[in-house]
Amino acid sequence: MQFEDLSLSNNIQRAVADMGYTSPTPIQQQAIPIVLDGRDLIGCAQTGTGKTAAFAIPIIHHLHRLVGSGSKLKHIRALVVTPTRELAVQIGQNFDDYAKYTNIRQLTIFGGVSQIPQVEQLRKGIDVLIATPGRLLDLHKQGFINLDHLHSLVLDEADQMLDMGFINDVKKIVKLTPNNRQTLLFSATMPIAIRELAEMFLKDPATVSV
Ligand code: AMP
Repeated sequence: MQFEDLSLSNNIQRAVADMGYTSPTPIQQQAIPIVLDGRDLIGCAQTGTGKTAAFAIPIIHHLHRLVGSGSKLKHIRALVVTPTRELAVQIGQNFDDYAKYTNIRQLTIFGGVSQIPQVEQLRKGIDVLIATPGRLLDLHKQGFINLDHLHSLVLDEADQMLDMGFINDVKKIVKLTPNNRQTLLFSATMPIAIRELAEMFLKDPATVSV
C-alpha cells in the first residue's frame, strides 16, 4: 500500500512526500482509513511504529476539509493528551510537518514553563492542541481553553498516563469535551484500567494492534 491509496488531500500527500516516507507503516495502513471514517479507535502500538502519523494525518485531512483556506475564526477542533513534555513536543513537530501546506495550526502546551506564551497563542486561535494533562486542566480552569468545538480527542500513551498517576486527570479532561466527539486511544499495553477507560469513553471502537 502507498500513501496515494489512502485518499488524502494533495496538500497532505505533498507534506508526507517531503518527509521522505515511501509507504505507510502497518499501524498507519490500518488506522488511517478508520479515523478518516470518523470512527473511534483503540490502537495498541508502541512509540516507533509510526502511530503519531496514524492519528495526525487523518485529523489534519479532516480539519483541512472543514476549515479549508478560509480565514474562519479558529476553534480547538482536535486535542491530543500525552503524558510528557518530550512526547508533546514530538507530536507538535509531527503536526507541523504534515500540516505545512494547510492552514491548520497546532499549539503544544506543558507544565514547568511560563504559561504566558501559551495563553497568548491560545488567544490568537489554534485548530489542534497538544497537551500534558496538568497544564491543560490548569489553563482550562483559568478559562483560556474552550473545548466546545472539539471533533477529535486523542489519548496518547494511555498506559503511561496511568503509570504516571494521570488517570483521574484524563477522565476529567474527557468530560470537558463534547459527547459527539471522535475518540482515539493509543496504548502500548492494555491493562484493565485502560480497557475500562475505553469502555467508559469510546463508542463502538475499532481495534488495531501492531
Ligand atoms: P512514532 O511511532 O509516531 O513516534 O514514529 C516513529 C518514527 O517513524 C518517527 O521518526 C516518524 O517520523 C517515522 N515515520 C512515521 N511514519 C513513517 C513512514 N510511513 N515511513 C517512514 N518513517 C515514518
